[in-house]
Amino acid sequence: LEAEMLQMEKFSLVAELAAGTAHEIRNPMTTMRGFLQILAKEFKSGTKGYEYCELMIEEIDRANAIIKEFLLLTKPAAPNLRECDLHVILEEIFMLIESKSLLEDVKLNKRYAKSLPLVEADPAQIKQVFLNLATNAIQAMPAGGELTIATSVSNGTVVVRFTDTGCGIEEAQLARLFDPFFTTKEQGTGLGLTISYRIIEGHRGRLHADSTPGKGTTFYVELPGLKK
Ligand code: ADP
Repeated sequence: LEAEMLQMEKFSLVAELAAGTAHEIRNPMTTMRGFLQILAKEFKSGTKGYEYCELMIEEIDRANAIIKEFLLLTKPAAPNLRECDLHVILEEIFMLIESKSLLEDVKLNKRYAKSLPLVEADPAQIKQVFLNLATNAIQAMPAGGELTIATSVSNGTVVVRFTDTGCGIEEAQLARLFDPFFTTKEQGTGLGLTISYRIIEGHRGRLHADSTPGKGTTFYVELPGLKK
């Protein structure tokens, strides 16, 4: 029985690594796609430059579709813990979502705590969670809006909030948000929040949301802060 359990653990570790990697490959591709859309606008339609941009976007979409299929079979990895400054990770996120928010007419606001305790975390995994929450927020605002990313400390817990002025989430759907494959998007996998939830759980933290339909949504990431 013990050998069997070990075997199962090994299998799920490999599956988790694969899923984490596949999911992370999608993020740089989404960034590339955003910049290609901007680049395409620099050319007139009908020109070679425009046509090449369109072709590259199509190819990125094709690669994304393959990864999506693959992700349907898998899930995330054990965190590789280090001391992290979440503000540093958030700065990277701001850079990554800049092009997309520009295209979607989303204003980005930053509300950082004056000083934030460090956290023990896997920076790559946390970046994945933040990018996921920021991307979801932007997608929830097809007619533009504002995304505010705020940090604070409460009783030694570090809190990062992602607040959007988007479509919001109905109460019945709020309960299913973190379920695998729950999606309301045509191109969605419904795995982003499932993976994010597991990652934060793996950091002994909490991920939750509150929302007002038609008004907007806030996602809260809570992680235990390190004592100075
Ligand atoms: P996906 O983005 O592929 O659909 P997720 O697990 O990231 O998968 O999200 C699941 C669903 O949760 C989304 O399809 C959407 O309905 C809802 N959702 C997530 N974030 C937001 C948000 N900021 N505003 C409104 N709905 C959201």
